[in-house]
Amino acid sequence: MSITFNLNKIKSELPKEVTLVAVSKTKPNEAILEAYNAGHRVFGENKVQELAQKYDDLPKDIEWHLIGHLQTNKVKYIAPFVSLIHTVDSFKLLKEINKQALKNNRVINCLLQVKIAEEENKFGLSKTDAEALINNTEVAELKNIKIVGLMGMSTNTLDEIQVSNEFSLLHIIYSEFRIQNSEFRILSMGMSGDYKLALEQGSNMIRVGSTIFGERSYN
Ligand SMILES: *Cc1c(COP(=O)(O)O)cnc(C)c1O
Repeated sequence: MSITFNLNKIKSELPKEVTLVAVSKTKPNEAILEAYNAGHRVFGENKVQELAQKYDDLPKDIEWHLIGHLQTNKVKYIAPFVSLIHTVDSFKLLKEINKQALKNNRVINCLLQVKIAEEENKFGLSKTDAEALINNTEVAELKNIKIVGLMGMSTNTLDEIQVSNEFSLLHIIYSEFRIQNSEFRILSMGMSGDYKLALEQGSNMIRVGSTIFGERSYN
């Protein structure tokens, strides 16, 4: 099936308040342009260098999201253009994003990545640490970043009950934070294998790669 077909099929099944981030990591510019020409504008990449290169090469009305782990020393490469960073997991990183956003005279929207999976290797803050970060008075002084929601990844398992429970937990945390924070509006959860479960648990932003672009091959 073509990229256009896959994209339109997913979009036709999504509630209209849900944003689809087309995850184009490892895929060539031609693949992105096919989705672009089908009307899609929101794309996600997980590596800073690849993201910056694709930004240079491709139409400037694309809304680029960083969905992979971000090191402080690389923030400067994406600060001029990135529209949402999904993976904020420390105050240090937030401060650097603020600094680079200020240099570019921008306000950069950020999500806090919360660890909901049981695997050891998944990045993210605990609920307590996310809470501490949101309530940190120094964060309120950072005028060039805005924390607009949460992102999470479920455990890579076929156990749908476990996956649903993890998404449900993130939705509960999101709902609690939302009460005190009027800027909070994005709950980024769900990928190709689990976005339907994520939507059932209240996700309003899904990050889908292989179902749109086909399997990735890493060399
Ligand atoms: C790669 C990736 C996705 C998309 O994965 P698919 O299974 O191809 O849909 C979503 N979120 C993050 C953080 C990713 O790294």
